[in-house]
Amino acid sequence: PFDLHGRCAVVTGAGRGLGQAVAIGLAQAGADLVLLGRPGSQDTTRDQVADLGRDVEVVDLDVSDHDAVERVGARLVADRQVDVLVNNAGIIDREDSVAVDRDAWHKVLDVNLTGLFFLCQQLGRPMTERGHGKIVSIASLLSFQGGIRVASYAASKHGVAGITKALANEWGPLGVQVNAIAPGYIATDNTTALREDPERSRSILERIPAGRWGTASDIAGAAVFLSSPAADYVNGHVLVVDGGWMA
Ligand code: NAD
Repeated sequence: PFDLHGRCAVVTGAGRGLGQAVAIGLAQAGADLVLLGRPGSQDTTRDQVADLGRDVEVVDLDVSDHDAVERVGARLVADRQVDVLVNNAGIIDREDSVAVDRDAWHKVLDVNLTGLFFLCQQLGRPMTERGHGKIVSIASLLSFQGGIRVASYAASKHGVAGITKALANEWGPLGVQVNAIAPGYIATDNTTALREDPERSRSILERIPAGRWGTASDIAGAAVFLSSPAADYVNGHVLVVDGGWMA
């Protein structure tokens, strides 16, 4: 039920971190891949996917460039059948809310929320016409909580949960499942600063029942599940993968 042979999966921001692990996990499950991301950032992942014997294409895309999302998305679905979309690309801005300016606010929302929605629209439209497809978005614990000094990120990730449920309601009847993953504290470049701060790092670890930071491959397994026929009856769900943090 986890087999993805013959399926084409698109992953955004697959050059490193969670996106890279998810792309490789999907390839190991048999999927062919299209990697959408910043120019030059995804070559290593492309080679790793090719080494697994899967078809792989790299396409340059800044998901905050909404004209490009429309253009690239339209070309992609004209060229091939996309079965799975994983929205992984995301950025965070850590700043006191009293100091956040409009540019910084929009930068985060443009990538994490608006870019994600319009990519869902472009790649999801043919899925709804065909009557099957899976969309998996990387949300966050800050899809449920507010965090500290991350208002734009929390707003965007609450929004990702909202889009997930809205599309599940709209597209579920058309055969498309739309879900999200909320990772807890995962060791990637994104969290290096937290891990290198001894006090923050200790207080975070104390709260994680698993007793360790998550790894990118902890997230890859969840993404393979939600992309596969095993999850045909899962829709509109935000799957928390956090070592028990939220418990
Ligand atoms: P990362 O910074 O290592 O990777 C992010 C990727 O997104 C990079 O490959 C980057 O090039 C790409 N990207 C950023 N802006 C882009 C844009 N405008 N267009 C195209 N690609 C873009 O981060 P990560 O930790 O691997 O995070 C991946 C996702 O997981 C993000 O959505 C993040 O919010 C989410 N997340 C991470 C954690 C964690 O603990 N690491 C926790 C919760 C959620």
